Amino acid sequence: MKGKVHYEIRGNIALLSIDNPPVNPLSSGVRQGLFDGMQKALGDDDIQAVVITGLNRAFIAGADIGEFGAAASEAVGLNEVLALMEGSQKPVIAAINGTAFGGGLEVALCCDYRVAVKTAPVGLPEVKLGLLPGAGGTQRLPRLIGAEASISVITTGNPIPAPQALTLGIVDRVVEGDVVQGAFEFAQELIDQGAPTRKIRNLTEKIAADQSKEGLFDQAIAGLEKTHRGQFAPAQIVKCIEAAVHAESFDAGMETERARFAECLSHPQREALIHIFFAERAANKIPGLSAETPLIDVNQAAVIGAGTMGGGIAMCFANAGIPVQIHDNDPEGLARGLKVIEGNYARTVSKGRLSQAVMDQRMALIQPAARLEDFAEADVVVEAVYENLDLKKEIFTKLDQIMKPGALLATNTSGLDVDAIAASTQRPEAVCGMHFFSPANVMRLLEVVRGEKSSPETLGTAMALGKRLGKVSVMAGNCPGFIGNRMIGGYSRQANLMILEGASPAQVDAVIYQFGLAMGPFAMADMVGLDLGWRARKMRGGSNEITARIPDALCELDRFGQKNGLGYYRYEGGDRTPIVDPIALEVIEKVSADLGYERKAFTDEEILKRCIYPLVNIGAQLLDEGHALRAGDIDTVYVNGYGFPNHVGGPMWFADAQGLASVLADIQRFYSETGDEAWKPAPLLERLVAEGKTFASLDQG
Ligand code: NAD
Repeated sequence: MKGKVHYEIRGNIALLSIDNPPVNPLSSGVRQGLFDGMQKALGDDDIQAVVITGLNRAFIAGADIGEFGAAASEAVGLNEVLALMEGSQKPVIAAINGTAFGGGLEVALCCDYRVAVKTAPVGLPEVKLGLLPGAGGTQRLPRLIGAEASISVITTGNPIPAPQALTLGIVDRVVEGDVVQGAFEFAQELIDQGAPTRKIRNLTEKIAADQSKEGLFDQAIAGLEKTHRGQFAPAQIVKCIEAAVHAESFDAGMETERARFAECLSHPQREALIHIFFAERAANKIPGLSAETPLIDVNQAAVIGAGTMGGGIAMCFANAGIPVQIHDNDPEGLARGLKVIEGNYARTVSKGRLSQAVMDQRMALIQPAARLEDFAEADVVVEAVYENLDLKKEIFTKLDQIMKPGALLATNTSGLDVDAIAASTQRPEAVCGMHFFSPANVMRLLEVVRGEKSSPETLGTAMALGKRLGKVSVMAGNCPGFIGNRMIGGYSRQANLMILEGASPAQVDAVIYQFGLAMGPFAMADMVGLDLGWRARKMRGGSNEITARIPDALCELDRFGQKNGLGYYRYEGGDRTPIVDPIALEVIEKVSADLGYERKAFTDEEILKRCIYPLVNIGAQLLDEGHALRAGDIDTVYVNGYGFPNHVGGPMWFADAQGLASVLADIQRFYSETGDEAWKPAPLLERLVAEGKTFASLDQG
């Protein structure tokens, strides 16, 4: 059995200490140990109270995910442990020494009282894996803190710091020092007062108040449409909390929880979310890198280019407490960039999500540098100047002369050749891509791009730095657009072809929104600005791509997108809601007619396949070429960098779920209907279908 629980008697109180390093999940040995310890304490007449705590870093970090799907263990089940604790006539006090998440908090909720150390977070994060707390959390929490607060705590699943948990009423006392001692003092007070036990299942005050609140649960479910669009588990959570308030008994509410938990457990979204959970962790494992790979000690960072990306990247360093210099060859651009950074922080302060003191600390970490030479002592530099290969080569040649030996030289290029950039230095081994996503201070994804000569030290440092900056890092090979942008090119191209062939932007966008992305390709294009691509194409002397014809025609009519209220859509009064505009549709139909298209109707299903299957086909090519290491890496990129819905699991997982044979059949049909080489089925996809395998099976092998 995995994990154990130490039993110790201190005076008239028994101390149960959970020991299952590093984070004390509720593995078989922990459940059995808690059960045995409780029995021992209850059977000992000299014991008047029980304190439960965790050794190591956590109280209990949650269920043992490794046990999911494993054969039933011979240890007692969690429910039996909880029933014993809740049935105890001696007070049981949780001494929350660290993280109490999921089943961990549910254990604590079966104690009479909870004492937490100030630094310990508590929470019920099950929703993030498509589940709900299945050990009474949805029934006990509302009795403790009320339905509304419970809905917020359980549907967001976010960690709650102990002081906030105290305000909410989840914990009863917060201590600064030794939490076990604090819990013992609390227990002794109860014993001295001869206080009765306090079982949450018997508390009635909060739910009595909630019973009279009309529309509470309907409103909550309506609200979830905005915050958790398309997700199954959150509404189930609300239904459980509703049962806690309205069911005839605690046990009847528990029945509801059990039934709804089972529905979540067998729902495909749960598997998709667990896939993403593990994929994000697996992405850190890079062949050729190990714990022994020497890393550069990063104490000082530098960023070149103070535009959209450079400013956001500098904020990432400052947010992680790393001093960062920022340089721009345009002094006004540098001043503007710093103002934007300051404005971003100030907005967060005004929303109450950051204190002024922390903002000041972060601003003090960001140092403007008038000259590139000022970077001489930096351990890492991230280049974020215009997307122009010659310019980037010139900058790297200079950086090579300026940066100290052993520094990491990274480029934030969106898709240019990292090897060509590295070749402009005398130290290509120190160069790699660190591709952040916009806004860099918000988006979780970082693509670390492996150049042909990038050393393990360089790559390991970039991956570790990503982690320090709070990013999910994925290793990508050096090919045009790397993983994410190479794939998105296929998606955008099909969307643009479909509006030439007869679909409307609103129809395409509606399908993609319905699928779960925040917005469709045309609303997105309007947001980014149609003029950027138009100007870039003009600078290159124009484009022969037929997919550029509509955006070019719109720009010729001064329709640049949201920025001037006209693009694929119309926008009114500074509002960002797209309104269908007949004039834009006329432009689209005219270009379409000029190119000789006969407009046809599209089904939503066809639109979805035309948009998503290029991601799958290109993803398969990336895997075959080795430019992506795992199908799960691609899914991680899409979920964290492109707003692909987590509960669908990413494009490769989605393809597996559709059945690869049917995906391939559609791709073959598109290929034979259009003769478009972009639809040529990826050999890997054909091989997998022939062998009856999935993308996921590649990652297991
Ligand atoms: P930007 O135009 O907002 O900023 C570029 C900045 O670089 C400007 O302030 C400019 O003055 C400065 N600059 C130009 N030449 C310079 C030089 N020789 N020395 C110092 N500074 C110089 O561009 P951006 O959107 O921040 O993009 C920067 C890089 O990041 C590009 O390679 C781009 O492809 C990449 N990128 C952009 C995004 C995005 O969504 N904007 C996302 C990921 C990556």
